Amino acid sequence: MPILEILKYPDPMLKTVSEKITEIDGPLISFVNDLVETMKASPGVGLAAPQAGRPVRVIAIDVTPKNPGAGLIVLINPEIVSASGGKVAREGCLSVPEYTANIKRAADVVVKGVNIDGKELEISSTGLEAVALQHEIDHLDGILFIDRIANMKRDLFKRRT
Ligand SMILES: [Zn+2]
Repeated sequence: MPILEILKYPDPMLKTVSEKITEIDGPLISFVNDLVETMKASPGVGLAAPQAGRPVRVIAIDVTPKNPGAGLIVLINPEIVSASGGKVAREGCLSVPEYTANIKRAADVVVKGVNIDGKELEISSTGLEAVALQHEIDHLDGILFIDRIANMKRDLFKRRT
């Protein structure tokens, strides 16, 4: 399976609101497999379809490298059903490789969506995985983590190369 090219800011695709998926067909399944493969081959814990050049509502998340036992989540048409609490955590993004930032997010979320077999799922999540879910769903609405920085001077950090 090919590794997909990850688009970088300021590619206009990253500002696009992605389309809802209406049919899980062969080409979509093969794209989702490539998306997962690409995420696993990269240093990130999540990837959204528009980052790989397709404006459709699918995300892949796997925080297992930082949180053993978490497992892979692939969600089609994900939606945040409820969000509670708040916390600030350092985020990065494969599409904005040169920076990290402190971003305020909900601490706990419940997300619903459909898996690759078309089965409806509802996931309650907390910690890094909850942050990743919010970050990746933002991508489907054309929102990057840098759009959520409260104070550029205080909260944005250039990565050391
Ligand atoms: Zn991202």
